[in-house]
Amino acid sequence: MANIIETKSLNVGYGPIHVIYDLDFEAPEGAVTVIVGPNGVGKTTLLKAIMGLVTVYSGQVLFKGQDVTELPPYERTKMGIGYMPQVGNIFSRLSVAENLKMAAYTVDDPSLIEEKMEMIFTLFPVLKGFMHRAAGTLSGGERQMLAESMVLMRDPKVMLVDEPTAGLMPKLVTDVLKKLEEMAETTGLPIILVEQRARRALEVGDIAYMMRGGRFTFKGSAQELLNHPQLTEMYLGAIEVHELKYVRE
Ligand code: ADP
Repeated sequence: MANIIETKSLNVGYGPIHVIYDLDFEAPEGAVTVIVGPNGVGKTTLLKAIMGLVTVYSGQVLFKGQDVTELPPYERTKMGIGYMPQVGNIFSRLSVAENLKMAAYTVDDPSLIEEKMEMIFTLFPVLKGFMHRAAGTLSGGERQMLAESMVLMRDPKVMLVDEPTAGLMPKLVTDVLKKLEEMAETTGLPIILVEQRARRALEVGDIAYMMRGGRFTFKGSAQELLNHPQLTEMYLGAIEVHELKYVRE
């Protein structure tokens, strides 16, 4: 299947701080691609690089095969790259309705806005009853649903989701990830999901990447990684890449 997002030999950082090294990444159409790995290894930085929010030293970011490496973030958003950052993804003081309206400010077509609202109410019926509540009063799980809805309002062609379960009670983690999976299934939207909670995320993923030190240490199917007897050790860094039977080029 064609790739919606691809990076080629990507080297990225924050000013002089080099974080990502020679990264070749592929996220196919119609799939949930999961990037797992411990804290601080560069997962968020990769999403930021896809959005154009960090310094690219060399390499390319492709969207639907088109080189977007030099484009500013707003151009990428307009083209259809949807991004849900880990923090600051809703306006707490605005109502749920106002948040959705804000999110759709670039959409001119009223029928498209209506269509997206209906899709959101079908996916997240709980939001319907909260339209006039301040977003800051929602529970953690509901806030994530709102943040995802805000991205959906812009009619994205791919959605980058940065650790949607961060800070959530364990009970809600599965709910949030299951909802994400349901969203992917009903809309067919390709999703790139970054998660520190590897097992839970791999359960909803199709393709898996494991990251350590700004490089991938595993590329394969989510099932493969999930069933890997050494996932935990690999995660903790106790074994190195070349020892892995399933590792691919
Ligand atoms: P992850 O998402 O895997 O937790 P990040 O991509 O957030 O990791 O961070 C990768 C590395 O980049 C870390 O060493 C972090 O300290 C560094 N980093 C992140 N944001 C910045 C920044 N704004 N300026 C400088 N270094 C940063």
